[in-house]
Amino acid sequence: MKKVLVLEDETSIRSFVVINLRRVGYEPIEAGTGMEALERLRENPDIGVALLDIMLPDIDGFEVCRRIRATNQKIGIIMLSARTQEMDKVTGLMTGADDYVTKPFSPAELTARVDALYRRLGDDDQESDTGEIIQGPFKLNTRNRTLEKNGQRIRLTQVEYSIMKMFMDNPGKALSREDILNTVWGRDYFGELKIVDVNIRRLRIKIEDDSTNPTYITTVWGFGYKWGM
Ligand code: CA
Repeated sequence: MKKVLVLEDETSIRSFVVINLRRVGYEPIEAGTGMEALERLRENPDIGVALLDIMLPDIDGFEVCRRIRATNQKIGIIMLSARTQEMDKVTGLMTGADDYVTKPFSPAELTARVDALYRRLGDDDQESDTGEIIQGPFKLNTRNRTLEKNGQRIRLTQVEYSIMKMFMDNPGKALSREDILNTVWGRDYFGELKIVDVNIRRLRIKIEDDSTNPTYITTVWGFGYKWGM
């Protein structure tokens, strides 16, 4: 069964999430503190997606996210943020989360997000066009799903890899934010376009020489982004 880590200290919310994940066929692994979550992950390396609450009794959800990403770029991470924590969405995505869900959320909304991330993990095995794409200083290896710039490995999350793959498959072509959202997150995803911008911002920090003056991923105003040398 597909395992999902549920880190949430409020037992009523945690139970609600667990029941709904179970209903659609996931195996929830529960944790009530940040340290407990990291322990559960060590015990269950096959967890594909983690749901992380932000306000916790010990270390906060962003710190948990940071620690997971220090060793695991592959796992899908969704932050569970409160409505008042608007800024936290950005902070969470900048620390390496793939997505966020704002409380209170519906079961359908939550499971759709988990499905989307799990589908991306599944795509790895089915990728047919394995090989290398080399453009300028960048080398994308579609077999290992890795990126190098001038021979130096750049560590990417699954979402960042998918965005890079889309760019390098379409050099010089302006891609709309809707196209990027549909390709990377899936057509039935019901998130916001803003998530594209936040992930691009994070990707620029990793791949641009100067992320405040990007030359590889350029903005096409009012439309989207373009990849080019
Ligand atoms: Ca909490």
